[in-house]
Amino acid sequence: MRRKISILGATGSIGKSTLDLLGRNPERFSVTSVTAATNVDALSEVARRTGARIAVIADENRLGALRDRLAGSNCRAAAGEGALVEAGTDDSDLVIAAIVGCAGLRPVMAAVDAGKTVALANKEALVTAGALMTDAATTSGATLLPVDSEHNAIFQCLAGNRSEDVSKIILTASGGPFRTSSAATIAAATPEQAVAHPKWSMGAKISVDSATLMNKGLELIEAHYLFGLPSDRLDVVIHPQSVVHSMVEFVDGSILAQLGSPDMRIPIAYALAWPERMATPAERLDLATIARLEFDAPDLDRFPALRLAREALETGGPAPIVLNAANEVAVASFLAGAIRFPDISRLVAEALSHATFDIPHSISDVLEIDRVTRAQTGAMMKASCS
Ligand code: NAD
Ligand code: MG
Repeated sequence: MRRKISILGATGSIGKSTLDLLGRNPERFSVTSVTAATNVDALSEVARRTGARIAVIADENRLGALRDRLAGSNCRAAAGEGALVEAGTDDSDLVIAAIVGCAGLRPVMAAVDAGKTVALANKEALVTAGALMTDAATTSGATLLPVDSEHNAIFQCLAGNRSEDVSKIILTASGGPFRTSSAATIAAATPEQAVAHPKWSMGAKISVDSATLMNKGLELIEAHYLFGLPSDRLDVVIHPQSVVHSMVEFVDGSILAQLGSPDMRIPIAYALAWPERMATPAERLDLATIARLEFDAPDLDRFPALRLAREALETGGPAPIVLNAANEVAVASFLAGAIRFPDISRLVAEALSHATFDIPHSISDVLEIDRVTRAQTGAMMKASCS
């Protein structure tokens, strides 16, 4: 029996890496649903290539165009959030959650509520609704398999160990393109420089997050919800080689690490084949050639986003939602050339300091905090950056 896979965010970086692995193992996997934001050409091509039965475009205005492109195929075209939820709850055995941003929250939650096995790349969904999502998984019996390379590494290190024997988790960070840059250079960073990650090839939003170190901040919050440790037992260390993907320290003083080349197909393959493993074409590590593995403390003055994220984690409640929403708006504006690089962290800090929301009790509460924060951040940007 082939394993049936639904891919939310099939046209993105994670989606493509997943499709690469599925294409190499046609006897092992089939594709049920594929989704994308706006690109009907890329989505219809993926749908035809994989033989998916449903293709969902988030932008409802493009449904007609998608239907035209799928004419004569066995794939049904659908659009909008309801259809994304349908793709997340179809008859698949595994849902790949690879939409970027809080936009992925409803379909991911629907998959979790339906008791699915979910390979989670969409970290913003967990950052904004972590407690609701892990509670829902407990209730429904859903399994969350972390795809983010750090969390996948931790998941691998934890296998066969008791959670009460863990003393801390150490997340590694490449340091991004500005690791050694002066504050003045960072202040003048262009979008092209910010997305040019030294080790990983990724979508634009996460690449900017890696440059500000907000990505590591989001990952701290992600680790908290996935593995249940408080902030003071979650460390971050800069590791420029991006070979050690993260580590777990145990009560006896042992540290386990997962190593591999910086290729997302390794963690994605782990989720696809779990609880087994499968072969990947990822480059093998040649440790003698790599020769040195370096580790360094993060500089929170040059990269304030990491400090803001830790504060949001410690504040809890609505704070991670506000952090994420302000960051999504600011990063999109930076990529569009409307604000400068340091404005990203400044806007996030301002949004956090103005926020007066109640603790969210439902996904609707989360999405309302997200909506209001986006509007407020947009207004702050107009006031201070024009
Ligand atoms: P990407 O921008 O390359 O792709 C995003 C996908 O989501 C695309 O298919 C896009 O069409 C879809 N999408 C975007 N906005 C949408 C919306 N409003 N509604 C519905 N669909 C929408 O992003 P990516 O780099 O593949 O990252 C995807 C997720 O995985 C992110 O949360 C990211 O943080 C996480 N992640 C990515 C990597 C990586 O190497 N790329 C590593 C770790 C975690
Ligand atoms: Mg990561």
